[in-house]
Amino acid sequence: ARAAEESGPPAPGALSDGTPIGLLANLGKPADAADAVSRGAEGVGLFRTEFLFLSSAQAPTIEQQRASYIELLQPFEGKKVVVRLLDAGADKPLAFLNDAHEENPALGLRGLRALRASEDILREQLTALAEADAATSADLWVMAPMVTTVEETAYFTALAHEYGLRTAGVMVEVPASALLADRVLAHADFASIGTNDLTQYTMAADRLLGSVASFQDPWHPAVLRLVREVGEAGARTGKPVGICGEAAADPLLAVVLVGLGATSLSMAPAALADVRRSLAAHSSDDARRLAEAALAADDAAGAREAARAASTTT
Ligand code: PEP
Ligand code: MG
Repeated sequence: ARAAEESGPPAPGALSDGTPIGLLANLGKPADAADAVSRGAEGVGLFRTEFLFLSSAQAPTIEQQRASYIELLQPFEGKKVVVRLLDAGADKPLAFLNDAHEENPALGLRGLRALRASEDILREQLTALAEADAATSADLWVMAPMVTTVEETAYFTALAHEYGLRTAGVMVEVPASALLADRVLAHADFASIGTNDLTQYTMAADRLLGSVASFQDPWHPAVLRLVREVGEAGARTGKPVGICGEAAADPLLAVVLVGLGATSLSMAPAALADVRRSLAAHSSDDARRLAEAALAADDAAGAREAARAASTTT
């Protein structure tokens, strides 16, 4: 395997029966694109635009944004690049979008809610993205963070389409939108599951708080059942369902997520090789079997054990 990796770019992600599973990179700045490409990323599954502006007091200009997005898109000619609109609030506060005085910022005016409350900033970001799209030849997809309702989904995708951005979707990271995934997907071109926040909100455990860290485990069957809702809705509607939370970087959990219906996985570039190997060692039937085993467990540790046992029996 090592020789093969050294002699050329790694093969695209696929299960042992040939089912393709897109292996994509999570990026926070355009300069990280080259490393992702060298590690075999087939594109970008999550570009966190807010990382560019965490220290800005003022909203970035259209020109500033356009330059960053062009820099991001250029290395991915012909490839999929999913850009997330500013996800401001809680663990990623932006001075120009958030009210610092909320008592529970994770439950506050964050993500798409904050963008909608400052719609000029949202429109400027869509303008910059549309201009960068026109100047480059990557396959640009845009998505909104922290989408809770079907109405928010319809609002965002219609607005993005209005700017000429053809592929518009939503992040599913709140249980409400996972449970209504079939209705959400009726209004979106794709969904991408953010397992970090989906776990936080499902388990009612602040993802930044060490004292409740044991609850923040995406292996928990309650989280997996929500992922299944989205995966099944994706299969019924024929829409792609990606995973872009940390869970996708766990080689065994990656197989489970595919068994639950994920069609692509996005992760820190350093995790791509191990996940690629794990997918190649399992068939679609294996993935479904591992998923069933994990879903039937009582807790995260049990789900992990059940999947491991189901995997070694293949
Ligand atoms: C997530 O919540 O899983 C996610 C991918 O977004 P972030 O970690 O940036 O909140
Ligand atoms: Mg999130």
